[in-house]
Amino acid sequence: MRLTKAFVVGRHTQRLKRVFARHFKIDMRKPDFVVSYGGDGTILYAERTYPGFPKIAFRNSSRCKRCLLGATPKIHKATEKVYCEACLENAIGKLKRGKFKILEFQKVEATAFFTKNGRRNSKTLIGLNDVQIHNSNHFHAVRFDFCLDGVCLEKEIIGDGVVVASLYGATAYFHAISRKTFSKGFGIAFNNPLTPIRPIFPKDGFKAEAHIQRRNAELVADNNPEMIALRKGDKVVFRPSKEKARIIQLQ
Ligand SMILES: [Zn+2]
Repeated sequence: MRLTKAFVVGRHTQRLKRVFARHFKIDMRKPDFVVSYGGDGTILYAERTYPGFPKIAFRNSSRCKRCLLGATPKIHKATEKVYCEACLENAIGKLKRGKFKILEFQKVEATAFFTKNGRRNSKTLIGLNDVQIHNSNHFHAVRFDFCLDGVCLEKEIIGDGVVVASLYGATAYFHAISRKTFSKGFGIAFNNPLTPIRPIFPKDGFKAEAHIQRRNAELVADNNPEMIALRKGDKVVFRPSKEKARIIQLQ
């Protein structure tokens, strides 16, 4: 795959756009690849605005201590695919010479079935890292039943919610609440439950359901500002998404 058209997503991208414009045609509509410039949140935003487009991520740090192109080895698996600004020229050289591969990550989705103005409704959110049910009020736990592949695993979980993470998000929020990670498939972790519940690593093609029993909650995907309000009686179905994210790994 030859890369000729690029676009840069993030905050304060003017300088980076100029650097890329020296080597690639800047094309906002149909780039061959998208550059995410910023932190982890920028990658999630870039995937939302350019779903499925090959992406390469740069952190805005001028000292390299975190990427595979620099002198020092990786700290943490999740940062393997993120490069730093100090390695920009080196990275651009590799992009132009085709010295990369594209890693595919299956995303995760959640469909909420809810009542609005007395009518049944449904809406799906897709996450690159994760989709989650979160209590809408920090002082009140949400109560929900949780089922996996047709089997009800837990009745009336009382806690802050549940996170269903993709492999891409294995070291993000999922890790923060479960202190665990995984190297294939998906992970399900319960957020601060009253009674401890171990994380679940469901089989491929899983279908999980949460039934809200008490209190209000929100369905959230990544850092997407669009949330879905959930009430008692609403249901959320979690499953692997058909969508894949494509992440450029330089070689
Ligand atoms: Zn670097």
